[in-house]
Amino acid sequence: MIAALPRAVGLLLLVSLTTPGLVAAREEEEGLPILESGTAAVDLGTQRLTIRYSTTIAGPLVEVQPLIGALGGELEIGPLGEAHELTLNERTFAFGPGSDAVTSGPEIIDLSQAAIAGQTGAQVPLDLLDNIYGHNLGYEFTWNQAARMLLVRHQPARELGMHFNLVHVQGVTTVVFQFSTRPRYRVTTEPRSVLVELIGDRLAGNTARSLPTDDLVLGISVATNGIRLQLADGATVENYVLDDPYRLVFDVFRDGRQPAPGEPTAPPGRRRERPTGIRTIVLDPGHGGADTGAVGRSGLEEKRLSLQIARVIKRLLEERLPVRVVLTRDGDGEVTLERRAALANQNKGDLFISLHLNSAVGSSARGVETYFLSLDATATSQAHAAAAASVGSQEGDPLFDLQLELWDLAQSRHLADSRTFAQLIQEELNEALELGGRGVRQAPLRVLMGVAMPAVLVELGFLSNPNEEVKLQDPEYRLQLADALVKAVTRYRAQAQGLPEGTDEATP
Ligand SMILES: [Zn+2]
Repeated sequence: MIAALPRAVGLLLLVSLTTPGLVAAREEEEGLPILESGTAAVDLGTQRLTIRYSTTIAGPLVEVQPLIGALGGELEIGPLGEAHELTLNERTFAFGPGSDAVTSGPEIIDLSQAAIAGQTGAQVPLDLLDNIYGHNLGYEFTWNQAARMLLVRHQPARELGMHFNLVHVQGVTTVVFQFSTRPRYRVTTEPRSVLVELIGDRLAGNTARSLPTDDLVLGISVATNGIRLQLADGATVENYVLDDPYRLVFDVFRDGRQPAPGEPTAPPGRRRERPTGIRTIVLDPGHGGADTGAVGRSGLEEKRLSLQIARVIKRLLEERLPVRVVLTRDGDGEVTLERRAALANQNKGDLFISLHLNSAVGSSARGVETYFLSLDATATSQAHAAAAASVGSQEGDPLFDLQLELWDLAQSRHLADSRTFAQLIQEELNEALELGGRGVRQAPLRVLMGVAMPAVLVELGFLSNPNEEVKLQDPEYRLQLADALVKAVTRYRAQAQGLPEGTDEATP
């Protein structure tokens, strides 16, 4: 709803603004200027109607009463023609001319523009129809401006694939439901449970799964028409949506506050961003193109292995965490080190992981190593050698470049976080692979220098070691490596989100 501007504020605006256009705009509080109005056809598939319509810069407004007559629901109009109350499937929706919102119980849904009175009755924006008839009955509304026609179609029920994962870290249980395509649904919070009702769509196949017991989410039941989360007494739930692939995410935690019965969470379609946190993870498969990286005795190339592992990590991360995953390359192309960093920064990454495989003179070196950037120009020759091996000698001397750019390295602000992240990765890898000895190291790695987020480089084994080369060819072993990295990201994310706002440079 656009609140009318008090006269005093209007005067202040007149005094403080010298641009007449801005003042004029403030006086148009009743709605946007009408560009065009007339009669339009409604194509309902089985029948046709004629209604009044208007258009503004924000799109069409259509006469609502004849549409309600065709689509169903009971409409009550207040004595002044203002308040409209539509009852549909035991829910009531309130809207009216001059209001750019529709309310249903405690839920308030903002609209693209205000409804208007019209000569023959209220005219409403299409998103009002989407919110009432689209989300509840599966109708789709399309306006054809050239033909002055409103196309109304009922989408047939679709069978959707869905799988889910539950992660519990530091007092927060995150449940991620991943759908094969964007579902139509409604989320309702009830005492000690959350209900996801599918609207018009159905869940395909046997989606029932047993999950480890959790002290916040006591159970998840999946039926063809929806999902129910059973929550512990006193648990609070927040939900939000991530796209590509489409995921509906629930964070369940205790904060002493209990949701009121029937209290809505964020309605579908309205994206809620997490206030802080790790949202985008950039995976950087090392090498590519003519630059094969290390090559094992059997001909196994580092560039292929690093990409294979990156793809597994991406899949696991998207399944388990509400995060977006970006790859710096997803094919066999050559990507410069500068471009990798630029891609990470452009995508507003919150974590950067460069994936490599080691090689050493001789065949005995084994194990995994995690690096973060060293700003120490007198880094040991050992680190220098490791750096040169990692970035490829044709990319130039990393130490030379480091000295040139030392004062404004993007990575320098994130070194403490990068160290923490590197330690978590190394812990998880050591535990998963039962390896000791090698650990977290610092080196002037050029690929990490320009990255404006916590960043590490992981050497996931030695291709020069025939035993490790054999293991790395096993998809099960690669899954173990990927799983350990995902666990490290999960722990880092939990730690980062536990920090008070403003102290974590990694997540502005
Ligand atoms: Zn490498």
